Amino acid sequence: MNIYADNAATTVICQAAADAMLDTMKNYPGNPSSLYILGQRAKEKLEDSRAQIAAMINAEPREIIFTSGGSESDNQALLSAAMIGKRKGKTHIISSAFEHHAILHTLKKLEKNGFEVTLLPVHENGIVRVSELENALRDDTCLVTIMTANNEIGTIQPIKEIGELCRSRGVLFHTDAVQAVGHIPIDVKEQSIDMLSASAHKFHGPRGTGFLYFRKGIVLSNLIEGGAQERGKRAGTENLPAIAGMTAALRESIDGMEKHNAHKTVIRDHLIEGLSRIPHSALNGDAESRLSGNVNFSFEGIEGESLLILLDKKGISASSGSACTSGALDPSHVLLSIGRIHDVAHGSLRLSIGEDITMEEADYIIGSVKEVVEYLRSFSPVWRDLMTGKREFIL
Ligand SMILES: *Cc1c(COP(=O)(O)O)cnc(C)c1O
Repeated sequence: MNIYADNAATTVICQAAADAMLDTMKNYPGNPSSLYILGQRAKEKLEDSRAQIAAMINAEPREIIFTSGGSESDNQALLSAAMIGKRKGKTHIISSAFEHHAILHTLKKLEKNGFEVTLLPVHENGIVRVSELENALRDDTCLVTIMTANNEIGTIQPIKEIGELCRSRGVLFHTDAVQAVGHIPIDVKEQSIDMLSASAHKFHGPRGTGFLYFRKGIVLSNLIEGGAQERGKRAGTENLPAIAGMTAALRESIDGMEKHNAHKTVIRDHLIEGLSRIPHSALNGDAESRLSGNVNFSFEGIEGESLLILLDKKGISASSGSACTSGALDPSHVLLSIGRIHDVAHGSLRLSIGEDITMEEADYIIGSVKEVVEYLRSFSPVWRDLMTGKREFIL
Protein backbone atom coordinates (compact mmCIF):
# COMPACT_ATOMS: atom_id res chain seq x y z
CA MET A 1 0.00 0.00 0.00
CA ASN A 2 1.14 3.57 -0.70
CA ILE A 3 -0.38 6.26 1.47
CA TYR A 4 0.62 9.90 1.30
CA ALA A 5 -0.10 11.33 4.76
CA ASP A 6 2.04 14.46 4.68
CA ASN A 7 -0.34 17.00 3.19
CA ALA A 8 0.71 19.66 5.70
CA ALA A 9 4.20 19.58 4.13
CA THR A 10 2.88 19.80 0.59
CA THR A 11 -0.04 18.45 -1.43
CA VAL A 12 -0.20 16.67 -4.77
CA ILE A 13 -1.26 19.07 -7.52
CA CYS A 14 -4.87 18.59 -8.66
CA GLN A 15 -5.87 17.98 -12.26
CA ALA A 16 -7.70 21.31 -12.54
CA ALA A 17 -4.56 23.21 -11.48
CA ALA A 18 -2.27 21.25 -13.80
CA ASP A 19 -4.71 21.82 -16.71
CA ALA A 20 -4.92 25.55 -15.97
CA MET A 21 -1.12 25.81 -15.87
CA LEU A 22 -0.62 24.01 -19.17
CA ASP A 23 -3.35 26.07 -20.81
CA THR A 24 -1.77 29.29 -19.55
CA MET A 25 1.71 28.29 -20.71
CA LYS A 26 0.41 27.47 -24.18
CA ASN A 27 -2.19 30.16 -24.70
CA TYR A 28 -1.01 33.17 -22.67
CA PRO A 29 2.63 33.55 -23.68
CA GLY A 30 2.84 37.34 -23.32
CA ASN A 31 4.29 39.42 -20.51
CA PRO A 32 1.41 41.12 -18.64
CA SER A 33 3.41 44.38 -18.67
CA SER A 34 3.58 44.49 -22.50
CA LEU A 35 1.23 46.78 -24.38
CA TYR A 36 0.50 44.62 -27.44
CA ILE A 37 -2.45 42.24 -27.53
CA LEU A 38 -0.52 39.15 -26.35
CA GLY A 39 0.61 41.08 -23.30
CA GLN A 40 -2.82 42.47 -22.63
CA ARG A 41 -4.38 39.02 -22.86
CA ALA A 42 -1.91 37.85 -20.20
CA LYS A 43 -2.74 40.92 -18.11
CA GLU A 44 -6.45 40.10 -18.33
CA LYS A 45 -5.77 36.53 -17.21
CA LEU A 46 -3.71 37.84 -14.28
CA GLU A 47 -6.42 40.28 -13.18
CA ASP A 48 -9.12 37.66 -13.62
CA SER A 49 -7.16 35.34 -11.27
CA ARG A 50 -6.76 38.16 -8.77
CA ALA A 51 -10.50 38.91 -8.85
CA GLN A 52 -11.39 35.24 -8.37
CA ILE A 53 -8.98 34.76 -5.46
CA ALA A 54 -10.15 37.97 -3.80
CA ALA A 55 -13.79 36.91 -4.07
CA MET A 56 -13.02 33.52 -2.51
CA ILE A 57 -11.88 35.17 0.76
CA ASN A 58 -14.32 38.11 0.52
CA ALA A 59 -11.62 40.65 -0.31
CA GLU A 60 -11.32 43.14 -3.16
CA PRO A 61 -8.96 42.52 -6.09
CA ARG A 62 -6.71 45.47 -5.19
CA GLU A 63 -6.23 43.95 -1.73
CA ILE A 64 -4.34 40.94 -3.17
CA ILE A 65 -0.74 40.69 -4.35
CA PHE A 66 0.80 37.52 -5.72
CA THR A 67 3.98 36.25 -4.09
CA SER A 68 6.23 33.18 -4.21
CA GLY A 69 4.33 31.52 -1.34
CA GLY A 70 3.68 31.50 2.37
CA SER A 71 7.17 32.42 3.53
CA GLU A 72 7.39 35.50 1.32
CA SER A 73 3.87 36.64 2.26
CA ASP A 74 4.68 36.26 5.97
CA ASN A 75 7.94 38.21 5.58
CA GLN A 76 6.32 41.04 3.63
CA ALA A 77 3.32 41.31 5.96
CA LEU A 78 5.48 41.56 9.08
CA LEU A 79 7.99 43.94 7.55
CA SER A 80 5.19 46.20 6.28
CA ALA A 81 3.38 46.32 9.62
CA ALA A 82 6.66 47.00 11.40
CA MET A 83 7.46 49.92 9.10
CA ILE A 84 3.96 51.37 9.57
CA GLY A 85 4.36 51.02 13.34
CA LYS A 86 7.79 52.56 13.40
CA ARG A 87 6.56 55.70 11.63
CA LYS A 88 4.07 56.13 14.51
CA GLY A 89 6.63 55.30 17.19
CA LYS A 90 5.02 51.92 17.89
CA THR A 91 7.51 49.08 18.07
CA HIS A 92 5.79 46.30 20.05
CA ILE A 93 4.61 43.12 18.28
CA ILE A 94 2.55 40.24 19.68
CA SER A 95 2.64 36.72 18.26
CA SER A 96 2.45 33.16 19.57
CA ALA A 97 5.06 30.62 20.63
CA PHE A 98 4.17 28.06 17.96
CA GLU A 99 4.15 30.10 14.75
CA HIS A 100 5.85 28.86 11.60
CA HIS A 101 9.54 29.75 11.30
CA ALA A 102 8.69 32.20 8.49
CA ILE A 103 7.07 34.25 11.26
CA LEU A 104 9.38 33.48 14.20
CA HIS A 105 12.61 34.10 12.29
CA THR A 106 11.26 37.36 10.82
CA LEU A 107 10.32 38.46 14.35
CA LYS A 108 13.89 37.68 15.49
CA LYS A 109 15.19 39.93 12.74
CA LEU A 110 12.82 42.73 13.78
CA GLU A 111 13.97 42.33 17.40
CA LYS A 112 17.54 42.94 16.27
CA ASN A 113 16.25 46.12 14.67
CA GLY A 114 14.72 47.60 17.79
CA PHE A 115 11.29 45.95 17.96
CA GLU A 116 10.02 44.26 21.08
CA VAL A 117 8.20 40.93 20.67
CA THR A 118 5.79 39.20 23.06
CA LEU A 119 5.09 35.53 22.31
CA LEU A 120 1.80 34.35 23.82
CA PRO A 121 1.66 30.83 25.26
CA VAL A 122 -0.57 28.32 23.49
CA HIS A 123 -1.19 26.05 26.48
CA GLU A 124 -1.67 22.30 26.48
CA ASN A 125 -4.50 22.42 23.94
CA GLY A 126 -2.48 24.45 21.42
CA ILE A 127 -4.83 27.44 21.42
CA VAL A 128 -4.13 31.11 22.14
CA ARG A 129 -6.33 32.68 24.82
CA VAL A 130 -7.96 35.93 23.72
CA SER A 131 -7.95 37.23 27.33
CA GLU A 132 -4.15 36.84 27.41
CA LEU A 133 -3.85 38.69 24.12
CA GLU A 134 -5.98 41.46 25.60
CA ASN A 135 -3.63 41.71 28.60
CA ALA A 136 -0.56 41.77 26.36
CA LEU A 137 -1.79 44.65 24.15
CA ARG A 138 -0.01 47.95 24.85
CA ASP A 139 -0.28 51.52 23.60
CA ASP A 140 2.82 50.92 21.47
CA THR A 141 1.65 47.58 19.97
CA CYS A 142 1.72 47.92 16.18
CA LEU A 143 0.97 44.34 15.12
CA VAL A 144 -0.60 41.08 16.26
CA THR A 145 0.29 38.04 14.15
CA ILE A 146 -1.35 34.73 15.05
CA MET A 147 -1.64 31.78 12.67
CA THR A 148 -5.11 30.56 11.69
CA ALA A 149 -4.24 26.86 12.03
CA ASN A 150 -1.01 25.30 13.21
CA ASN A 151 0.97 23.27 10.68
CA GLU A 152 2.14 20.58 13.11
CA ILE A 153 -0.77 19.95 15.45
CA GLY A 154 -3.59 21.42 13.35
CA THR A 155 -5.20 23.46 16.12
CA ILE A 156 -7.48 26.27 14.91
CA GLN A 157 -7.20 29.65 16.64
CA PRO A 158 -10.09 32.00 17.56
CA ILE A 159 -9.30 34.28 14.62
CA LYS A 160 -12.56 36.24 14.54
CA GLU A 161 -12.31 37.12 18.25
CA ILE A 162 -8.65 38.09 17.85
CA GLY A 163 -9.48 40.17 14.75
CA GLU A 164 -12.32 42.00 16.49
CA LEU A 165 -10.18 42.74 19.54
CA CYS A 166 -7.33 44.12 17.41
CA ARG A 167 -9.73 46.18 15.29
CA SER A 168 -11.28 47.72 18.42
CA ARG A 169 -7.79 48.71 19.65
CA GLY A 170 -6.57 50.01 16.30
CA VAL A 171 -3.81 47.38 16.09
CA LEU A 172 -3.03 45.65 12.76
CA PHE A 173 -3.84 41.94 12.71
CA HIS A 174 -2.02 39.53 10.39
CA THR A 175 -2.67 35.81 10.18
CA ASP A 176 -0.55 33.08 8.59
CA ALA A 177 -3.45 31.14 7.06
CA VAL A 178 -1.30 28.83 4.95
CA GLN A 179 -2.79 25.69 6.55
CA ALA A 180 -6.30 27.13 6.55
CA VAL A 181 -6.98 28.63 3.11
CA GLY A 182 -8.79 26.03 1.01
CA HIS A 183 -9.39 23.88 4.11
CA ILE A 184 -11.67 25.92 6.37
CA PRO A 185 -13.88 28.92 5.52
CA ILE A 186 -12.04 32.25 5.46
CA ASP A 187 -13.80 35.61 5.25
CA VAL A 188 -11.41 38.50 5.84
CA LYS A 189 -14.22 41.01 6.45
CA GLU A 190 -16.26 38.85 8.79
CA GLN A 191 -13.12 37.82 10.71
CA SER A 192 -11.68 41.38 10.85
CA ILE A 193 -8.38 40.28 9.27
CA ASP A 194 -6.05 43.07 8.09
CA MET A 195 -3.41 40.89 6.42
CA LEU A 196 -3.36 37.21 5.50
CA SER A 197 -0.75 34.86 3.99
CA ALA A 198 -1.58 31.88 1.77
CA SER A 199 0.36 29.34 -0.26
CA ALA A 200 -0.90 27.36 -3.28
CA HIS A 201 0.97 24.12 -2.65
CA LYS A 202 -0.91 23.55 0.61
CA PHE A 203 -4.24 23.31 -1.26
CA HIS A 204 -3.28 21.21 -4.32
CA GLY A 205 -1.85 24.13 -6.30
CA PRO A 206 1.72 24.50 -7.57
CA ARG A 207 4.82 25.14 -5.39
CA GLY A 208 6.42 28.56 -5.31
CA THR A 209 3.29 30.65 -5.57
CA GLY A 210 0.97 32.24 -3.06
CA PHE A 211 -0.67 35.50 -2.18
CA LEU A 212 -0.82 38.20 0.45
CA TYR A 213 -4.10 39.88 1.32
CA PHE A 214 -3.76 43.38 2.81
CA ARG A 215 -6.78 45.50 3.69
CA LYS A 216 -7.07 48.68 1.60
CA GLY A 217 -5.37 51.60 3.27
CA ILE A 218 -2.42 49.49 4.44
CA VAL A 219 0.76 50.56 2.69
CA LEU A 220 3.01 47.58 1.98
CA SER A 221 6.80 47.75 2.07
CA ASN A 222 8.66 45.87 -0.67
CA LEU A 223 10.88 42.87 -0.16
CA ILE A 224 11.82 42.86 -3.83
CA GLU A 225 12.61 46.11 -5.66
CA GLY A 226 12.49 46.45 -9.42
CA GLY A 227 9.68 46.83 -11.93
CA ALA A 228 6.20 48.12 -11.24
CA GLN A 229 4.46 44.73 -11.18
CA GLU A 230 1.80 44.16 -8.49
CA ARG A 231 1.28 47.93 -8.32
CA GLY A 232 4.90 48.43 -7.37
CA LYS A 233 4.71 46.25 -4.27
CA ARG A 234 6.37 43.09 -5.62
CA ALA A 235 8.75 43.41 -8.54
CA GLY A 236 9.41 40.61 -11.02
CA THR A 237 7.54 39.23 -14.04
CA GLU A 238 4.44 37.48 -12.73
CA ASN A 239 4.40 33.66 -12.72
CA LEU A 240 1.13 33.58 -14.64
CA PRO A 241 0.87 29.78 -15.14
CA ALA A 242 1.36 29.20 -11.41
CA ILE A 243 -1.11 31.95 -10.52
CA ALA A 244 -3.72 30.44 -12.84
CA GLY A 245 -3.01 27.00 -11.31
CA MET A 246 -3.41 28.38 -7.81
CA THR A 247 -6.73 29.98 -8.76
CA ALA A 248 -8.09 26.72 -10.16
CA ALA A 249 -6.87 24.77 -7.13
CA LEU A 250 -8.46 27.17 -4.67
CA ARG A 251 -11.74 27.11 -6.57
CA GLU A 252 -11.79 23.31 -6.42
CA SER A 253 -10.72 23.18 -2.75
CA ILE A 254 -13.45 25.59 -1.70
CA ASP A 255 -16.11 23.86 -3.80
CA GLY A 256 -15.26 20.50 -2.21
CA MET A 257 -14.50 21.82 1.29
CA GLU A 258 -17.64 20.72 3.11
CA LYS A 259 -17.64 17.23 1.64
CA HIS A 260 -13.89 16.75 2.19
CA ASN A 261 -14.01 17.99 5.77
CA ALA A 262 -16.90 15.68 6.62
CA HIS A 263 -15.00 12.68 5.23
CA LYS A 264 -11.62 13.60 6.72
CA THR A 265 -13.15 14.24 10.16
CA VAL A 266 -14.51 10.68 10.27
CA ILE A 267 -11.14 9.23 9.23
CA ARG A 268 -9.19 11.55 11.57
CA ASP A 269 -11.27 10.55 14.57
CA HIS A 270 -10.92 6.88 13.65
CA LEU A 271 -7.12 7.31 13.51
CA ILE A 272 -7.09 9.14 16.85
CA GLU A 273 -9.21 6.43 18.44
CA GLY A 274 -7.00 3.64 17.05
CA LEU A 275 -3.66 5.23 17.90
CA SER A 276 -4.70 6.18 21.42
CA ARG A 277 -5.07 2.44 22.13
CA ILE A 278 -1.26 2.17 21.89
CA PRO A 279 -0.06 2.26 25.53
CA HIS A 280 1.71 5.42 26.72
CA SER A 281 0.70 7.54 23.77
CA ALA A 282 -1.14 10.87 23.58
CA LEU A 283 -2.76 13.13 21.02
CA ASN A 284 -1.05 16.50 20.70
CA GLY A 285 -3.34 19.52 20.59
CA ASP A 286 -7.06 20.00 21.01
CA ALA A 287 -9.25 17.22 19.60
CA GLU A 288 -12.13 19.52 18.61
CA SER A 289 -10.73 22.85 17.38
CA ARG A 290 -8.55 21.07 14.87
CA LEU A 291 -8.11 20.74 11.11
CA SER A 292 -9.94 17.69 9.78
CA GLY A 293 -6.73 16.43 8.17
CA ASN A 294 -4.39 16.54 11.17
CA VAL A 295 -3.44 13.76 13.59
CA ASN A 296 -0.38 14.30 15.80
CA PHE A 297 0.67 11.77 18.43
CA SER A 298 3.53 11.32 20.86
CA PHE A 299 4.69 7.83 21.85
CA GLU A 300 6.88 7.40 24.86
CA GLY A 301 10.18 5.53 24.60
CA ILE A 302 10.80 5.84 20.85
CA GLU A 303 12.38 8.24 18.36
CA GLY A 304 10.22 9.86 15.73
CA GLU A 305 12.90 9.58 13.04
CA SER A 306 13.11 5.77 13.31
CA LEU A 307 9.32 5.59 13.33
CA LEU A 308 9.17 7.57 10.07
CA ILE A 309 11.76 5.45 8.30
CA LEU A 310 10.02 2.20 9.22
CA LEU A 311 6.61 3.60 8.23
CA ASP A 312 8.13 4.69 4.91
CA LYS A 313 9.16 1.05 4.33
CA LYS A 314 5.51 0.13 4.78
CA GLY A 315 4.51 2.68 2.14
CA ILE A 316 3.34 5.40 4.52
CA SER A 317 4.70 8.95 4.03
CA ALA A 318 4.34 10.91 7.26
CA SER A 319 6.29 13.42 9.28
CA SER A 320 7.52 14.16 12.77
CA GLY A 321 7.76 17.83 13.57
CA SER A 322 7.72 20.10 10.52
CA ALA A 323 9.55 19.35 7.29
CA CYS A 324 11.56 22.53 7.72
CA THR A 325 13.14 21.34 10.97
CA SER A 326 13.41 17.61 10.29
CA GLY A 327 16.98 16.65 9.62
CA ALA A 328 17.94 18.79 12.58
CA LEU A 329 17.61 16.89 15.85
CA ASP A 330 16.09 19.74 17.83
CA PRO A 331 12.65 18.75 19.04
CA SER A 332 9.79 20.65 17.48
CA HIS A 333 9.21 24.10 19.03
CA VAL A 334 5.49 23.49 18.53
CA LEU A 335 5.46 20.37 20.71
CA LEU A 336 7.61 22.10 23.33
CA SER A 337 5.17 25.04 23.31
CA ILE A 338 2.29 22.77 24.35
CA GLY A 339 4.35 21.44 27.24
CA ARG A 340 5.80 18.22 25.85
CA ILE A 341 9.26 17.56 27.30
CA HIS A 342 12.18 16.91 24.90
CA ASP A 343 12.10 13.09 25.11
CA VAL A 344 8.39 12.86 24.45
CA ALA A 345 8.45 15.51 21.71
CA HIS A 346 11.11 13.42 19.95
CA GLY A 347 8.79 10.42 19.73
CA SER A 348 6.11 12.18 17.72
CA LEU A 349 4.26 11.48 14.51
CA ARG A 350 2.25 13.85 12.32
CA LEU A 351 -0.22 12.34 9.87
CA SER A 352 -1.80 14.94 7.61
CA ILE A 353 -4.35 13.11 5.53
CA GLY A 354 -5.82 14.06 2.17
CA GLU A 355 -9.43 13.85 0.99
CA ASP A 356 -8.83 10.63 -0.96
CA ILE A 357 -7.92 8.55 2.10
CA THR A 358 -10.08 5.47 2.73
CA MET A 359 -11.09 3.73 5.95
CA GLU A 360 -9.09 0.69 4.83
CA GLU A 361 -5.97 2.86 4.54
CA ALA A 362 -6.63 4.35 7.97
CA ASP A 363 -6.76 0.84 9.45
CA TYR A 364 -3.52 -0.03 7.67
CA ILE A 365 -1.89 3.07 9.19
CA ILE A 366 -3.11 2.19 12.70
CA GLY A 367 -1.83 -1.40 12.38
CA SER A 368 1.51 -0.28 10.99
CA VAL A 369 2.14 2.39 13.64
CA LYS A 370 1.24 -0.08 16.39
CA GLU A 371 3.62 -2.70 15.01
CA VAL A 372 6.49 -0.25 14.48
CA VAL A 373 6.11 1.38 17.92
CA GLU A 374 6.17 -2.05 19.59
CA TYR A 375 9.22 -3.07 17.56
CA LEU A 376 11.14 0.12 18.39
CA ARG A 377 10.27 -0.16 22.06
CA SER A 378 11.53 -3.76 22.12
CA PHE A 379 15.14 -2.54 21.99
CA SER A 380 14.82 1.04 23.27
CA PRO A 381 16.94 1.72 26.39
CA VAL A 382 14.53 4.50 27.37
CA TRP A 383 11.59 2.10 27.18
CA ARG A 384 13.51 -0.46 29.31
CA ASP A 385 14.14 2.22 31.95
CA LEU A 386 10.45 3.09 31.91
CA MET A 387 9.43 -0.55 32.27
CA THR A 388 11.87 -1.24 35.12
CA GLY A 389 10.84 1.90 36.96
CA LYS A 390 14.18 3.69 36.57
CA ARG A 391 12.26 6.42 34.77
CA GLU A 392 8.71 7.57 35.26
CA PHE A 393 6.08 7.45 32.55
CA ILE A 394 4.73 10.82 31.50
CA LEU A 395 2.07 9.70 29.06
C1 LIG B 1 4.05 25.71 4.55
C2 LIG B 1 3.84 26.83 5.48
C3 LIG B 1 4.48 28.07 5.28
C4 LIG B 1 5.47 28.30 4.18
O1 LIG B 1 4.85 28.32 2.93
P1 LIG B 1 5.74 28.19 1.60
O2 LIG B 1 4.79 28.45 0.49
O3 LIG B 1 6.27 26.80 1.60
O4 LIG B 1 6.81 29.23 1.70
C5 LIG B 1 4.20 29.09 6.16
N1 LIG B 1 3.36 28.92 7.19
C6 LIG B 1 2.72 27.76 7.41
C7 LIG B 1 1.77 27.63 8.55
C8 LIG B 1 2.95 26.67 6.57
O5 LIG B 1 2.34 25.51 6.80
